[in-house]
Amino acid sequence: LLPTAAPGVTPTRVMTIAGSDSGGGAGIQADMRTFAMLGLHACVAVTAVTVQNSLGVSGVQTIEPDIVAAQIRSVTSDIGVSAVKTGMLATAEIITAIADAATEVGIGGGGVPLVVDPVCASMHGDPLLRADALDTLVGRMFPLADVVTPNLDEVRLITGIDVVDADTQRDAARALRDLGARWALVKGGHLRGSDRSPDLLFDGDDFVEIDAPRIDTPHDHGAGDTLAAAICGALSHGYSMPDAVAFAKGWVTRGLASAYPLGAGHGPVNPLW
Ligand code: PLP
Repeated sequence: LLPTAAPGVTPTRVMTIAGSDSGGGAGIQADMRTFAMLGLHACVAVTAVTVQNSLGVSGVQTIEPDIVAAQIRSVTSDIGVSAVKTGMLATAEIITAIADAATEVGIGGGGVPLVVDPVCASMHGDPLLRADALDTLVGRMFPLADVVTPNLDEVRLITGIDVVDADTQRDAARALRDLGARWALVKGGHLRGSDRSPDLLFDGDDFVEIDAPRIDTPHDHGAGDTLAAAICGALSHGYSMPDAVAFAKGWVTRGLASAYPLGAGHGPVNPLW
C-alpha cells in the first residue's frame, strides 16, 4: 500500500467520524496521523471534544447531532470519500443522526465501505459512549458496517461473551456477525497470558486469523483507533477485507513497537513506514 499523495494530484479521500483527543494520541488525531501517512486526504466529522492527556479523560463536550450529520453531508456532497470509519460516537442522538446521514449519502450498507469501531471507553475506563447509547450503536451502526472492530471489553458489553481462548473468540465473532455487520473482527490484543495477539475475522462463512507478536509496552494509547483507521485506509485503496485487516495489523504492530512515552501516563502508538 503506497501513499497516493503527489504534487497537484487530488489524493484518495477518507473520513473519520470521531472524537477529538486534546493529548493528540487517540481519536481523530490518531486517525488523521494514519490517513496522512497512507497518502490519503482526511475529512473529519467531529462528534465530541474530549479534555484528555496521557493520564485520562477529564471532560467531554458533545457536538450537536445536526452539526455532526451536516459535516458528513457537506463533505460527501463536494469532496467525496472512498471509505469511512467511526470511533467515539458519544450519545444515542449523535448515532441516530450519523446513521440517518450515512444511509442518505450511501455510506455503508454496501455503498462506501464503513469501518465501525464500537468505542465505549478509554483504556483508563473513562466513558466515551453513554451507557444508554450502546443499543443504538449496535442497532443502527452494525447493519451499515462492512466491519466492526470491538476489543474484548467491548465484545463483552455487546454480546455478553467473555473471550478467554480461541473457542470463545469464535463464539464472539459469530454473535457479532449476527448483529448485522458484514465482517466481525474480534481483536485478541487484550487476551492476557499469550505472547501472540491473534485477531479473528469472520464473514459468516470463513474464519480468518490475523496473528502478530504481542508488543509489551505501556504506550498503546490510540491503538484501536489506529487499527480501524488503517483498515479504512486500505479499504479506500480497494483492498479486500482480509487484506485490509492484515495490512492494518502490521501497521499497528509496528506502531506499538515504536510508541513513545508522553506525559506521565500512556504514550501513543507511533505508526511508521
Ligand atoms: N479518546 C478518544 C477521543 C477516542 O476515540 C479513544 C478511542 O477510540 C480514546 C480516547 C481511547 O483510546 P485508548 O483506549 O487507546 O486510551
